[in-house]
Amino acid sequence: MEFPISEVLVKVKKAVRGCRTPSVTVISQKSDPFAVLVSCIISLRTRDEVTEPASARLFKLAKNPAQLMKLSNAKIEKAIYPAAFFRNKSQSLKELCKDLVDNYAGKVPDKLEELLKLKGVGRKTANLTLILGHGKLGICVDIHVHRISNRWGYVKTKSPDETEMVLREKLLRRHWKGYNDLLVTFGQNICKPVSPFCGSCTLAETCPKVGVTKHRHSPVGPAPSG
Ligand code: SF4
Repeated sequence: MEFPISEVLVKVKKAVRGCRTPSVTVISQKSDPFAVLVSCIISLRTRDEVTEPASARLFKLAKNPAQLMKLSNAKIEKAIYPAAFFRNKSQSLKELCKDLVDNYAGKVPDKLEELLKLKGVGRKTANLTLILGHGKLGICVDIHVHRISNRWGYVKTKSPDETEMVLREKLLRRHWKGYNDLLVTFGQNICKPVSPFCGSCTLAETCPKVGVTKHRHSPVGPAPSG
């Protein structure tokens, strides 16, 4: 039987009500593609509680690529610390901004192929920038989206990129934009990487729990509802 994805997403939406919104989504409320792109890069392998203030500190110093490329590495590093790989990210951000200034008139492109040409920009960052920064259609697959889609048996894939390609084929377009946001929040709070809260998950009856070897009963954080 085909996994009832539309019904499941309604339940996930209810379950994550009251949970913390992912940091890049919060930053995207400014409707600035540059802010989304930069905070996506800062967020790589970095906790949300670090990403949000680190991005805010950097945006106080520079609001566009021309300003950011002129900052010294030391200033950028100090602003985004303690984000993971803050030194590498500082250098990448400068190079990315120079690329934007030299080749895109200082604007963040709104096409996936162009975003993927930018230094340090992978499919996850490119899709998220497209969706949250430009309001365009895309599917952003990070580790949460990849893991949960596989646990549901909705996809059977080995990598996030492969998951994205399968989702592009089978997920209804109306779910594309919100899929990442919902599954990231769900993954951070309920369907955790190690030992998810299956015992109190509203999807427990529907979910085949592919690859889940141990799970817990009650969440420590916000209780799933619905
Ligand atoms: S039942 Fe378990 S594996 Fe399935 S969605 Fe819920 S927490 Fe995740």
